[in-house]
Amino acid sequence: MDENLRHAIEARTDDLVALTQDLIRFPTVNPPGEAYTPCAEYVGRRLAKRGFAIEYVRGEGTPGDSDRYPRTNVVARIEGKRPGRTVHFNSHIDVVEAGDGWTVDPFAAVVKDGRVYGRGTCDMKGGLASSIVAVEAYLATNPDFSGAIEISGTVDEESGGFGGVAYLARKGYFSKPRVDHVIIPEPLNKDRICLGHRGVWWAEIETKGQIAHGSMPFLGDCAVRHMGAVLDAFEKDLFPALDRKRTAMPVVPEGARRSTMNINSIHGGQTEDYRPGLPSPNVPDRCRLTIDRRFLLEEDIAEVKSEVTSILDRLKRERPKFDYTIRDVMEVQPTMTDRDAPVVKAVAEAIREIFDREPAYVISPGTYDQKHVARLGHIYDCIAYGPGILDLAHRPDEWVGIVDMVESAKVMAIGLGLLLDGKVD
Ligand SMILES: [Zn+2]
Repeated sequence: MDENLRHAIEARTDDLVALTQDLIRFPTVNPPGEAYTPCAEYVGRRLAKRGFAIEYVRGEGTPGDSDRYPRTNVVARIEGKRPGRTVHFNSHIDVVEAGDGWTVDPFAAVVKDGRVYGRGTCDMKGGLASSIVAVEAYLATNPDFSGAIEISGTVDEESGGFGGVAYLARKGYFSKPRVDHVIIPEPLNKDRICLGHRGVWWAEIETKGQIAHGSMPFLGDCAVRHMGAVLDAFEKDLFPALDRKRTAMPVVPEGARRSTMNINSIHGGQTEDYRPGLPSPNVPDRCRLTIDRRFLLEEDIAEVKSEVTSILDRLKRERPKFDYTIRDVMEVQPTMTDRDAPVVKAVAEAIREIFDREPAYVISPGTYDQKHVARLGHIYDCIAYGPGILDLAHRPDEWVGIVDMVESAKVMAIGLGLLLDGKVD
């Protein structure tokens, strides 16, 4: 590594910690989308001082957007001396709620034992701060760079990214010729490259019944019992079949290297919060179930859906009075960037240089904003790479290691240089 660049990053360690602390102190909790604007403006003001052109883009009309909770994104861009490639670092600024079980104030950004603690340190303000410092150090040591560098802070990743990366991608912010390479500093550990994620299908299944007095259930038709038959068929036929489907995708943790399905919720009959303890004696005429199916690159979404509907159709043939509806709630295609894509090669080379070992290539069990970059922006040269430890995300006493941030900032800066210099193709 260029010694000047290494020193420039190490010399910025205190600044990197202070920047992370400042970001944590904006309680950008989603939902509802608290403090997005001041957080985005803080990032914008800092980068404006370094010569970036700053744009604030509000995800107008996207879920949750209102004057009280505007979906404010910040996009910063700096042009080099000559035309060339553009490298974009994208981080989400929203965090999930703090929840219980903390031993420190989740928004005080306490520094202790070489770590910064707080909601969003790991996922992913530590990654955002690392990318900002990596770029600033790169600019200070390579003032004559070619191409362009962009840094964005976007909203709503935790709720699907509709007002954030999806909105920007629809407006052309994540497309060629504007952008060539995208790095998302999500917490996938500092020596791993995340190539993509599994697919998602959420659906709501409703069974139908007929209301009647609970003392004479034979006069009605119980929708909850019908749903029981659905769950029973899932247990007998669907779950074992999903378990057998393995993938060649390097998903972490290992347990997610196959098809999975969660039952997110089930509800039938009168709502529980209506007259607590005193449900009325009715035969429920509807029961709803939400499923969360995670699928693999080897699977086709039409097949994924028909596995479920074929079970429901079989019940309709075999079970008296059984009827159902099914509604798609969300669909995300699996995505996996090629290992020989330029951004992968550049960051892999940088990891070898800093850690003196081969990077691990992984796939996220869940999903993140890469889906929008690929599907809406048509940029397939995209990875997640960042300093946090994946398992700490969304948990109490979340933290990010200061050394991890410094080292990953070095990796990002080296990778950035390789891409802008055209050293990888
Ligand atoms: Zn995240």
